[in-house]
Amino acid sequence: MVKIRDIYEKKQCEGKPVFSLEIFPPKKAENLPKIYDTVAQLADINPDYISVTYGAAGGTKGKITSDIAGNIKRKFGIETVAHLTCINSSRDEVDDAIEDIKKNDIENVLVLRGDRVEGSREGAFRHANELAIELQKAGGRDLNLIGACYPEGHIDSPNLTEDVENLKYKIGAGVTSLVTQLFFDNQVYYDFIDRIRAAGIDVPVAAGIMPITKPSQIERTVELSGASLPEEFSKMIAKYGNDPDGLFVHDIEYAVGQIRDLIAHGVPDIHLYTMNTPEVAKAVYDGIKDLL
Ligand code: FAD
Repeated sequence: MVKIRDIYEKKQCEGKPVFSLEIFPPKKAENLPKIYDTVAQLADINPDYISVTYGAAGGTKGKITSDIAGNIKRKFGIETVAHLTCINSSRDEVDDAIEDIKKNDIENVLVLRGDRVEGSREGAFRHANELAIELQKAGGRDLNLIGACYPEGHIDSPNLTEDVENLKYKIGAGVTSLVTQLFFDNQVYYDFIDRIRAAGIDVPVAAGIMPITKPSQIERTVELSGASLPEEFSKMIAKYGNDPDGLFVHDIEYAVGQIRDLIAHGVPDIHLYTMNTPEVAKAVYDGIKDLL
């Protein structure tokens, strides 16, 4: 049982970055076994930890996230992070989810509010920092808490300054590291780090990288993340947007270039949004394994 903050410390001593992966639960419960086939393939690239989303892209909510995170630890010996959101959830529902986390011996939780979508209601906890406090109280032991952050600002925030001010609440509630929203322009990450350090936030910040290897992903990903697109990236997408094979090769190349530059700048953790696609994760890994 390892805490992500200890993995950061160990890797820092070794002078190496952490390499971590995000997966999401399958949309339909009958597809659950497939996720373990995916993890078996991801295990080949030796991630330091795997994080499992809650609801979001997977659609299924609740217990399934903790069960998957617990099973990955037991079956594959890989450390995990279970995501947990609080939007739409009563206090009892959150406490049930915390019980599942405890039952599965989860050590690391990514505390989130969750996205406001049409029909969503305010939960018992309005923001991730409030959920973090509840986890500390009801968790029953020393959980390692992680938070999300947005180098280009969260969509609900009027500006980045206010968003960074709000980020301090998460740190105050015990979050020991952060993971960024995906970005395509490394300068955005570097500027964000300068900004949060100046604001007094000194925790490690994992860089969220998502290769866009399918034409169908482009529009939705860009729209949902709000990430700005550097010229080089836009040109690549324009050129290969209708050529799946070309897009795969060139986007992997783009992501590998992005990651190599981040590692050269001392990023503590490369967090790859795998979209449950081992071939993508493996192709990226092949391009960076000499640095890990
Ligand atoms: P919060 O920290 O609550 O922030 C939301 C907004 O409120 C921001 O504008 C912030 O500035 C403001 N704010 C924060 N705290 C306060 C406060 N105390 N008072 C006033 N304003 C405040 N979604 C899922 O559904 N499932 C997932 O598994 C998932 N995983 C994610 C993983 C990562 C790495 C990231 C970056 C996002 C993930 N999301 C996931 C999406 C996330 O739930 C949404 O972006 C959501 O809109 C915000 O969540 P949050 O935890 O950052 O919210």
